[in-house]
Amino acid sequence: MTAAPPPRSPSSVGDALRVAILSVGDELLAGDILDTNMHGLANELAARGHRLVGTACVGDDLDAIVSALRRAAEDADVLLVTGGLGPTRDDLTRDGVAAAFGLALEERADYLAQAQGSNAVLTEGARLQATFPAGATVLENARGTAPGFLVEGAVDGRALRVACFPGVPSELRPMARALLDGLGPGARAATRKLRCCGATESEVGAVLAGVMDRARAGCLVGVTASKGILTVSVRGDDARAVDATLEEARALLGDTVFGEGDDTHPAAVVRLLAERGLVVTTAESCTGGLVAGAITSVPGSSEVLREAVVTYSNEAKTARLGVPEALLAEHGAVSEPVAAAMAEGARARSGADVALSVSGIAGPGGGTPDKPVGTVVFGLADAAGTVTRTFRWRGGRDELRTRSVTVSLELLRRRLLGAARDRLP
Ligand code: AMP
Ligand code: MG
Repeated sequence: MTAAPPPRSPSSVGDALRVAILSVGDELLAGDILDTNMHGLANELAARGHRLVGTACVGDDLDAIVSALRRAAEDADVLLVTGGLGPTRDDLTRDGVAAAFGLALEERADYLAQAQGSNAVLTEGARLQATFPAGATVLENARGTAPGFLVEGAVDGRALRVACFPGVPSELRPMARALLDGLGPGARAATRKLRCCGATESEVGAVLAGVMDRARAGCLVGVTASKGILTVSVRGDDARAVDATLEEARALLGDTVFGEGDDTHPAAVVRLLAERGLVVTTAESCTGGLVAGAITSVPGSSEVLREAVVTYSNEAKTARLGVPEALLAEHGAVSEPVAAAMAEGARARSGADVALSVSGIAGPGGGTPDKPVGTVVFGLADAAGTVTRTFRWRGGRDELRTRSVTVSLELLRRRLLGAARDRLP
């Protein structure tokens, strides 16, 4: 049975259900793994318009779990707990919840078979996974052996609903969605987001200054930047105000907007190529195939990419792309003439409509005074001709390579749009 929590009277703060998240696991506190469950749950809550009032992370420690539940009861109506439901003795979430609510733990015969799975004997661990606080509603786990559970009651005299999920992200996600669907829509309008590229955070901030000031009354407009991609998010209680603010921002941002919501930059580029019936190829040096990798991360990319090459050495640039040795000797591998020759060679040899090339000094070694680490050149060749760009960035190897992928794809996106304004991150 999948739990559909009963309807509940509105909380004290407007109609918004106050939700908190608790992540449990020593590995989280040790920094061994990232708390992606918190991130995923926060996303689900925002998309549904629920109010996330706080998050906490504790180790596999009974007292810490009980204390966290007590604190949650002060601030929240619903607490979502991830982790600590496994079959080992360090999985203490069920004990913590039982203790906080003053409930006994009971083994449920109807879940023993599921916990045993295909094992010949019923282990102690399996028994643990069929053990729940008395009266809990079991939350089915279609992808694993540890079911979740929902307890409704009072902690220190304060009403609280606690939903516990296993820590494995692929198991948690569908279970949490099923539970949240049962909670109904939140009081807030869902957050809407515009995804942008080709401008800096401060440029976007300046363009949106008026919208951000005026919107303060009704909605919250925020700008975040990560690896050359900007996200403009609009949150508020009135869906129409959110929509209107978003459209105002979209008009101001023009062709820097490539998508909405969780849309990705490579997906936007693949979409444009497919719409125009164009095939792309890449000739990559310092990115080692990451540009082609980004394109092929998009489902359906086989429509727009047939082949790509990684030409790391000068010899490979000459052998695979026909870059003249003399050009390499005169300008060096990280130069606009070589980027142009790489793109033109890749286009001619692959038969693609458009070719992208990247060559750069990703560091930490290899820099020279006139070409320091962080110098990256880009080329694009299509039927209309060849363009090149040079960028100089600071940053580590990973960051430079990631940025290079974004710039290369953005160069292509702008070319496909025929954008008048050739602005790149
Ligand atoms: P558990 O339910 O505590 O046995 O967790 C099972 C596995 O899920 C752990 O070994 C982690 O790899 C993963 N996991 C647990 N908590 C989280 C979390 N908050 N975010 C991402 N992964 C997690
Ligand atoms: Mg654990």
